[in-house]
Amino acid sequence: MRVEVLGSGAGGGLPQWNCGCDNCTLVRAGDRRVAARTQDSIAIGGDAAGAAQLLVNASPDVLRHIERSRRLWPRGPRDTPIGAIALTNGDLDHVIGLLSLRESQPLRILATRRVRDGLVERNAVLRTLARTPDQVTWTELELGREVVLDDVGVGVTPLPVAGKLPVHLVGLLDPSSEDNVALRVRDLASGRTVVVATALGSLDGIDALVAGADAILLDGTFWRDDELIALGLGRARAQDMAHVPVGGAAGSIARLAQAKIAGARRVFTHINNTNPILRADSPERAEVERAGWEIAFDGMEIAV
Ligand SMILES: [Zn+2]
Ligand SMILES: [Zn+2]
Repeated sequence: MRVEVLGSGAGGGLPQWNCGCDNCTLVRAGDRRVAARTQDSIAIGGDAAGAAQLLVNASPDVLRHIERSRRLWPRGPRDTPIGAIALTNGDLDHVIGLLSLRESQPLRILATRRVRDGLVERNAVLRTLARTPDQVTWTELELGREVVLDDVGVGVTPLPVAGKLPVHLVGLLDPSSEDNVALRVRDLASGRTVVVATALGSLDGIDALVAGADAILLDGTFWRDDELIALGLGRARAQDMAHVPVGGAAGSIARLAQAKIAGARRVFTHINNTNPILRADSPERAEVERAGWEIAFDGMEIAV
């Protein structure tokens, strides 16, 4: 099983079009300490040429991701190796790319009932993916139950993690445990697993979530809880956006120092453009690496 981080940025990417923070400014200046990043998406699948792939989330940058990754190119005149797309929540930076995958291509989308209903029942634009009855096949992700994708060669198990409603549904729906999930993806042949948890509102239950994983792709959105406030860029805390900070006594590095994951590749991704771990020479980056964690970049490949 091969994991490719297609987009390692959080919503907005790096640089973000309306952001002049230090990191975005350095990227625009061509500074080698910071690399540009597209918005969150991960491909998981076989290594062989033409092998079907599972896409985790459909980023606003999905078309760039497909063109950059040879494994996602069509194998014939009308084709895609994307065997399924699993949605971890209904945030626009994770679903809006679906609207770029029209062209009457049959798609299989895995989502909890809540995430599907939030997209389809309340959004006439999504009907563009239903031009024919067999264009999109929705497969319900039930918490704790594995969906087997024989063509991709993986099983996908959604696990509930603390999250929030997508911003555009707040006030329309009550929150549910199906709003946001982590995914445990198991290679059917080898049994090896990767855990993808890029929106993590709390570290409660994290030990069980990552136990036995061979690779972990974790929420690297913010370094500090008050990151946007301290930079004068917003009023929301990381926890208001359902993201646990990476640093600090209550952050994920400290919390996971005790977890039994020594043999696993540990990678932070979905990194917001304000996060100081993006700068190669920052003390925060050094702290992450000292703790045995890696920082995802666009195009990063992980053999699992
Ligand atoms: Zn996101
Ligand atoms: Zn910025």
